[in-house]
Amino acid sequence: TKLHSATGIQTTCPYCGVGCGVAARPDGVTGDQDHPANQGRLCVKGSALHETLVPAGRLLTPRVAGEDRSWPDALEAVSGAIREAVARHGPGSVAVYLSGQLLTEDYYVANKLAKGFIGTPHVDTNSRLCMSSAVAAHKRAFGEDCVPGCYEDFELADLLVLAGSNAAWAHPVLYQRMKAAGRTGRRVVVIDPRRTATAELADLHLKLKPGTDTILFNGLLVWLARHRAVDHDYVARHCQGYDASLEAALEAAPSVSSVAQQCDLPVGDVESFYRWFAETPRTVTGFSQGINQALAGTDKCNAIINCHLATGRVGLPGAGPFSLTGQPNAMGGREVGGLANTLAAHMDYDSPGARRNVARFWGADAVPESPGLKAVDLFEAVHRGDIKVLWIMGTNPAVSLPRSARVREALARCPTVIVSDCMAETDTTAFADILLPAAGWGEKNGTVTNSERCISRQRSFLPLPGEVRPDWWILSAVGRALGHGQAFDYQTPAEIFREHAALSGLAAREAYGQRKFDIGALGELTEADYDRLAPVQWPLAVDAAGNLSGTRRLYSDGAFSTANGRACLVPVATIAPGQAPTQSHPLVVNTGRIRDQWHTMTRTALAPRLLAHRQEPFIEVHPSDAERLKLREGELGRLTGPDAGVYVGRIRITPDQRPGEVFVPIHWNDRFASQGIATNLMKPVTDPFSGQPEGKHGVARLQPA
Ligand code: SF4
Repeated sequence: TKLHSATGIQTTCPYCGVGCGVAARPDGVTGDQDHPANQGRLCVKGSALHETLVPAGRLLTPRVAGEDRSWPDALEAVSGAIREAVARHGPGSVAVYLSGQLLTEDYYVANKLAKGFIGTPHVDTNSRLCMSSAVAAHKRAFGEDCVPGCYEDFELADLLVLAGSNAAWAHPVLYQRMKAAGRTGRRVVVIDPRRTATAELADLHLKLKPGTDTILFNGLLVWLARHRAVDHDYVARHCQGYDASLEAALEAAPSVSSVAQQCDLPVGDVESFYRWFAETPRTVTGFSQGINQALAGTDKCNAIINCHLATGRVGLPGAGPFSLTGQPNAMGGREVGGLANTLAAHMDYDSPGARRNVARFWGADAVPESPGLKAVDLFEAVHRGDIKVLWIMGTNPAVSLPRSARVREALARCPTVIVSDCMAETDTTAFADILLPAAGWGEKNGTVTNSERCISRQRSFLPLPGEVRPDWWILSAVGRALGHGQAFDYQTPAEIFREHAALSGLAAREAYGQRKFDIGALGELTEADYDRLAPVQWPLAVDAAGNLSGTRRLYSDGAFSTANGRACLVPVATIAPGQAPTQSHPLVVNTGRIRDQWHTMTRTALAPRLLAHRQEPFIEVHPSDAERLKLREGELGRLTGPDAGVYVGRIRITPDQRPGEVFVPIHWNDRFASQGIATNLMKPVTDPFSGQPEGKHGVARLQPA
């Protein structure tokens, strides 16, 4: 590929998991016509990227105990704190909390340093809040964390099912592609308790009761079985667990009327959805945080995948289940082992030989024997005092984790909090004992993997300001300061990428046999090849002439990544959300993104035009609730959760909500609205398989503020 187009250097957008290609200059960005994800398109956030490249608020110098310090001093402070914690309390007293904003190379070095050389298993990431339920479901169903399809499938599908996904706002360019592919006969079903912007594309909007998705999809499996729409030949040849899954589905959703009653939907609408699904071979089901962020998030994902396996619709053009990843590099983090329950290169702790292989590859004495703590439990361990050194990189858990007030207490109690960030003042940097200035978008070099398994380069086009350094550089310097010079002697991100790629090849060949995540063919890229690397979807294929190509779809041949090659249908029971409304807290609270902001607004709030869309925190309320509670449009309302968490926002009265339910956005932080932090309302209820918090279902009472 070319590095420079006429309009700028080719890089990728740092916001959502669509992973659009951007042609970037300091004074303007355009969509990269050559990038397969967006083919020149950008959404409003992407097109305002250059407006966020402002010096205001940047962290430019390392700081220790509030004082500007040199890098050698800061590195000594970091390595000294880690050394002391390990010596006095053991390696498990050190924890690292990462981010889907990090590049794969940064993620790789963080994981290697923590698990391989500090010896702590406690490495987790904000991706835990985003798609870990989909990861767990992929592993249960396919034997590996793989998205079988590609974006083109959303265009080819004759039936598009979008479950728990407001793609119009959260994955805008992919939504544009879906919209543009509209044609006579193509149907769209949107499954969401709210009428969102995405529902405007819907031929059928199933405005179901929150938390009843498993019932809806169990009912679909029953319908498929009763209407001879199951592909029994495919199931017999490529699957296991069908009978048990159908039995569980029959118990949970014995009839359409039972489904309709439990999901609070019209019978006719449920029947239409089931009939359309049964009769449409080219069906894609896209699912996102509305499915993942739940006590039963993993089960919800598997209930969806079960229906695709039962019909043999996996990895075919226009057909398959598709997890829409939230962050730009959530997938890359999964690949390197950024989750507490994974090792590296899609290897797990419970796989034979994996620990030994990884330790041998890294030249590490030992890798922890068992998985570490997942995000919510990790911060509880910090609160208890078990974690003595916590290193947070590129994320703002003081706003984004549930029960954020308790997370702040935990940070205040932790003996040493290290924060690497490009911004000086965030809700989380306020708790830092050591602050490390990290490179931001436009300044750093590396790779990301988007929702369709496409590895793309992020390229720098700006100099590093002040004492700012890339995360991989900071991590490597700490590794060397801890005495592991040989393992962390990286000079360029390309060296790290080569090592990561080579490890993935080793994993495929030695630890598992049949694995899809194998980018070993990129293990010997030269620096120039790495600079030129064009977007490519793993797994990679190399032809006889040495030409490299990617793979659009996986499992098209019915051979899965499990030990016996069969996919698993997983029996899914009905599990109610963790918190039910009560007399004192009668409203269900749903949360989500808005169109023009990203996460906790530390970057997108720098662009004035992005603030114009929604200027302040708000609470969307159904007209009947507004009338009963005597709330007027535009006045301030106060939500109070069961743990006394408070959220204050502007009342927006809309029939898009279901009665008894309210919606609040996730973005606002302390700097903009100290009482507009949605996670204050959320209890840390987590999925037992994935550890993902139930961010979409809290309870509260509402009154005028
Ligand atoms: Fe960036 Fe996502 Fe918008 Fe694409 S759709 S420009 S990746 S925010």
